[in-house]
Amino acid sequence: MTETITLSHHVAGRAVAGSAAFEQRNPAVADDLRIEGPEADAALVAEAVTAARAAVTAIEAAGIEARADALARIGRALMADADRLGLLIARETGKTLGDSKGEVMRAARIFDFFAGETLRNVGERFASTRPGATVEVEYAAVGVVAAITPWNFPIAIPAWKIAPALAFGNAVVWKPSEISSATGDALMAIIAASGLPAGSVNMLLGAGGAGKALSEADGIDAISFTGSVATGDRVRLSARRNVRVQLEMGGVNGLIVLADADLDNAVDCAVNGAFFAAGQRCTATSRIIVDNGIADRFVEAVRAKVATLKIGDPRDPATQIGPLAAPRQKELIARQVGDVEATGARPLFGGSEAAMEQCFYAPTLFDHVATSDALGQEEIFGPVAGIFRVDGFDAAIEALNGNRFGLSAGICTRSLLHAEEFKRRARAGMLMVNLPTAGVDYHAPFGGTAASSLGPREQGRAARTFYTIMKTSYQKPL
Ligand code: ADP
Repeated sequence: MTETITLSHHVAGRAVAGSAAFEQRNPAVADDLRIEGPEADAALVAEAVTAARAAVTAIEAAGIEARADALARIGRALMADADRLGLLIARETGKTLGDSKGEVMRAARIFDFFAGETLRNVGERFASTRPGATVEVEYAAVGVVAAITPWNFPIAIPAWKIAPALAFGNAVVWKPSEISSATGDALMAIIAASGLPAGSVNMLLGAGGAGKALSEADGIDAISFTGSVATGDRVRLSARRNVRVQLEMGGVNGLIVLADADLDNAVDCAVNGAFFAAGQRCTATSRIIVDNGIADRFVEAVRAKVATLKIGDPRDPATQIGPLAAPRQKELIARQVGDVEATGARPLFGGSEAAMEQCFYAPTLFDHVATSDALGQEEIFGPVAGIFRVDGFDAAIEALNGNRFGLSAGICTRSLLHAEEFKRRARAGMLMVNLPTAGVDYHAPFGGTAASSLGPREQGRAARTFYTIMKTSYQKPL
C-alpha cells in the first residue's frame, strides 16, 4: 500500500496549500511512499520575503538569548527524533538508514553549535589614529537570506544554512529540493515549534521554477545555494545586483594513491569515496589517481572489496549502498556512462550492462582513464569512478589539478614529505590525507576553490562571514 504525503508551503507561520506540481517516490521500493507538493510562484515568493523582512525585526527585538534557546531546542528535537526522521530520509531519498540517522544527528549538532555562536558574536574595538577616538567593528545581520538546497543531504545542508542565518539575526526563505521536500517539511515542523518569531524561516516548495523565482526576487539580501554547477551559474545570473551570493557546487574530486600507501586503507578510502552514498556527495571521489608501482594490486583489491558490498533497500540496516535518488538521476547517470562507453572504454565492473531495478545503479569503475577524457573533466553524480594511472608524485599532482574544479582532494601515502607537498600543491578547498575525499566535520570550514565554489566558507565559525555585515563605527566622546 503506497502512503501518500501531500505537502504545503510555509509562509509567516502558516501552511499554504496549492495544486500538486511535483512528485517524489521511494526510489528503492515500488508502492511504498509517494510525496506530492505545489510549486511556488513569484507572488508567493514576494509574500515570503515580506514575512521574512518582518521577522528580522522581531528576531532582533526578541534578543540573543531567546534565539540561542530556540536553536538549542531545534537541536534537541532533531536528536530526539533521529529514528523517525532518519527513516523518512531513507524512504524519500534512498539514503541508507545509518547515513540518514547520522545526518539527522549531524543537523542536530549544527543547530546546537550555532545556538552557542549566537552568544559568541564578538566584535572588536581598537584605538583610532585620531587622538581620543575609538573604532568598533560589529557583525550585524544581513537581513533576508534565501537558501536553495539539494536532496543529497536533505537535512544537514538546510541546517548548515538556516542555523547560522538565524544565529546572526537573519530570517530565511528556504526552497528545499523537490526530491527531498518531505524531509524539509519535517524540519520546518520542528523549527515552527521552537519559539522563533513567525516568518523567521519560510519554506517554499517546487522545482527549478520556484528556485528561479526565489533567486531573482526583490528584497533578498543574500542567497546561499548548494547544488549542481549548471544551476549555481543560473542562480548567480538571476540574483539582483548587490545580493550576496554563496555557491557550493560540484567537483570531479581526485584521490591520489602513492606506491607507499597502506593498501587496505587506500582501498577503503577509494571505495568509500567513490561508491558510498551511491556517489551522490559533492565531495565523492571520481578520479582515483594511482601510481603504477601499486596500481595492479590496488585495482584488484578495489574490485574484491566492491564485490562484498551489500546493495539494497536503504531501510535495511545491513545495506551499505542504496539507490540513486530519483528516476531522472538514474537516466542522467546512464546517459553519461553510455557516452563514456561510446568512446570505447569498458568498465572493470558495473556500467550499462549491469542494469539494476528501480533507481539502483551498480558501482562502476573504468580503468586507464586520461585526464582529458570526460571522466576526468565532468562530474557524474553517481557511483562511477575512473582509475588514472601515473608514474610518481609530480605526475599525480599534475593529474589531480587537471580540471576546472577544486572542492575536495585526497592522498594515501606514508610519506610525510608527500603529504605536506600535497597540501601545498593540490588545488582544492578540502584536503584529505589517508582519509576519503568525502566526510567532513560540522565545526570546521567547508568549501572549495575554482569552479566548485563562490563566496565565503560554510560551517563552523567561518560561517559568520557570509551571514553578517561588518559595521565599522568611529566615535569620539565629547
Ligand atoms: P540537484 O537536483 O542535482 O541537486 P540542482 O542544482 O538542479 O541539483 O538543484 C539544487 C537546487 O536548486 C534544488 O532545490 C533545485 O530545485 C534548485 N534549482 C533548480 N533549478 C534552479 C534555477 N534555475 N534557479 C534556482 N534554483 C534552481
